[in-house]
Amino acid sequence: MLRDAHNRTIRDLRISLTDRCNFRCFYCLPNGEPPLARKETILTFEEIAYLSEIFVSLGIEKIRLTGGEPLIRKDVPSLVRELAKLKPSLHDLALTTNGFDFPRHAAALKEAGLDRVTLSLDSLDRDKFLDITGVDALDKVYKSIEAAKELGFDPVKINACVVRGRNDDELVDFARFAREYAISMRFIEFMPLDSGHEWSRDLVVSGKEIYAAINAVFPLRLKETSRGSETSWKYEFADGSPGEIGIIAPVTEMFCGACSRIRLTADGQIRTCLFSTTEHNLRDVLRSGASREEIIQFIEDVVMKKEPRHYINDAEFTPASRTMSFIGG
Ligand code: SAM
Ligand code: SF4
Repeated sequence: MLRDAHNRTIRDLRISLTDRCNFRCFYCLPNGEPPLARKETILTFEEIAYLSEIFVSLGIEKIRLTGGEPLIRKDVPSLVRELAKLKPSLHDLALTTNGFDFPRHAAALKEAGLDRVTLSLDSLDRDKFLDITGVDALDKVYKSIEAAKELGFDPVKINACVVRGRNDDELVDFARFAREYAISMRFIEFMPLDSGHEWSRDLVVSGKEIYAAINAVFPLRLKETSRGSETSWKYEFADGSPGEIGIIAPVTEMFCGACSRIRLTADGQIRTCLFSTTEHNLRDVLRSGASREEIIQFIEDVVMKKEPRHYINDAEFTPASRTMSFIGG
């Protein structure tokens, strides 16, 4: 069991497969990657599988593969197949993708043992989608949603990062979309993790505002009175319509006290918080020939250093040492 110094149990590991991305979302990676890390620094799939087995033996129950855009890596299904061998101790194996290339890999991912997929979709309007992501790919994301549904990924979750003046006029349209397609539509507050450093408090549309805008048109009912260690408040439609609304409000409604997550970056650094200002080099420990026991000790020591909370709302907030596409959202 991985426990931190604040008595939180760590059950959720997010693994970034790559820093790179084929989109240029303005709230994440507007100008593309800085000069790429050398290829040798990126963990191989064998290394990721080995470390994942150790993490699962320590009580990790959920693994989410993310990035950058994880499907840029070659043959992700082969990694999924290895990770799926960790079930049933591993309860949940998920992927977050921008949907650009998902249909091509969807069947292989499902067959390899992927349980769930989350797709990102920030606008239902083609021009706005292009404006936000830098790529004219709205149709591809729709195809990805269809592919995910056809293959029986359940539930299909869609993430939208809500930014004032960019897509906050579409909240009700997104809710209608969730109802029509019976999907889980999750709205995320804009966090100060963008590489363009455009974030400002004025651009954050709070979870409460998001709720009010949707509830005024489609009345919502809270599904569970507690989030548990989940990041989102979950709502169903009061009229019994299919679909679900999730609201993730890390900026205005901090949920650090129940956090169960740690992250492994593509280059093998453990991050104990999205907003960490330091990282812990698991890759060098692994590659130095450390024994399994030494790796376990390293992970346990790092988890003890997990930050009690983030400091976004404090006057002396220091930005995270890396931005979202490098950390793995
Ligand atoms: N490329 C994949 C994708 O876009 O789904 C996976 C990685 S992306 C970093 C994961 C999630 O992080 C996306 O849903 C995106 O909307 C969210 N995200 C990125 N930058 C963000 C920011 N500054 N604030 C809030 N969410 C952000
Ligand atoms: Fe790429 Fe995802 Fe970041 Fe958009 S949010 S730039 S798709 S990593």
